[in-house]
Amino acid sequence: MGGQIPYGEVLISMNRMRAVRRVLPLEDVMVVEAGLTLKEAQDAAAGADRFFPLSLAAEGTATVGGVISTNAGGTAVLRYGVARDLVLGLEAVLPNGEIFHGLKRLRKDNTGYDLKHLLIGAEGTLGIVTAAALKLFPVMRSRATAVVGLETPAAALELLAVAKAETGGGARPRADEPTGHRDLPGPHPRHPRSA
Ligand SMILES: Cc1cc2nc3c(=O)[nH]c(=O)nc-3n(C[C@H](O)[C@H](O)[C@H](O)COP(=O)(O)OP(=O)(O)OC[C@H]3O[C@@H](n4cnc5c(N)ncnc54)[C@H](O)[C@@H]3O)c2cc1C
Repeated sequence: MGGQIPYGEVLISMNRMRAVRRVLPLEDVMVVEAGLTLKEAQDAAAGADRFFPLSLAAEGTATVGGVISTNAGGTAVLRYGVARDLVLGLEAVLPNGEIFHGLKRLRKDNTGYDLKHLLIGAEGTLGIVTAAALKLFPVMRSRATAVVGLETPAAALELLAVAKAETGGGARPRADEPTGHRDLPGPHPRHPRSA
């Protein structure tokens, strides 16, 4: 529609910065460049028998740099957190041309300021993200899915608490935004928790 055509701004394509630099299953970390799509990042993790949980409808085109710069949440946010929670380190080009070398991979890094958090969610205002070290997780070995209709948000919170407790924290609720569908099934009349 022409919305992508800049008027005086600089347009940067990250399309040629899409390498998977390293996948380190023993560390549960992968280092990827910012132009890689989210789907390609998920696939790189899966290729090493690991899981990268950030997932959203635009994952086929949204880039790692884009989801980090918008601090995107996606559908698994309640279990794994927002993009900020999945980034261990960043590399970025700052407005003065300096490179911020922050591709740390440590889980425990308590040395001084954590400057990556300024870049995450900054929508490109503080620099161009060029690469990221991302957290990986074990692939789920078994899965059961339920779609449950509930009367109130309070009931959803109660169900979430029960599901987390009964799965030892393994429940992965999907955070979906309502789209006007009012016909989802209600509580199952024979389920012991339906009362
Ligand atoms: C504040 C915000 C929050 C969002 N949260 C969600 C969410 O929770 N779930 C969801 O599904 N979608 C979310 N979106 C939509 C989200 O932008 C897209 O789903 C996707 O992340 C965009 O990726 P993209 O690569 O197309 O980025 P673009 O649309 O190209 O860019 C998005 C923003 O990030 C900046 N940016 C892109 N790449 C880089 C880079 N390498 N370095 C620095 N800045 C960069 C751009 O300048 C722009 O400001 C959000 C959008 C915004 C603006």
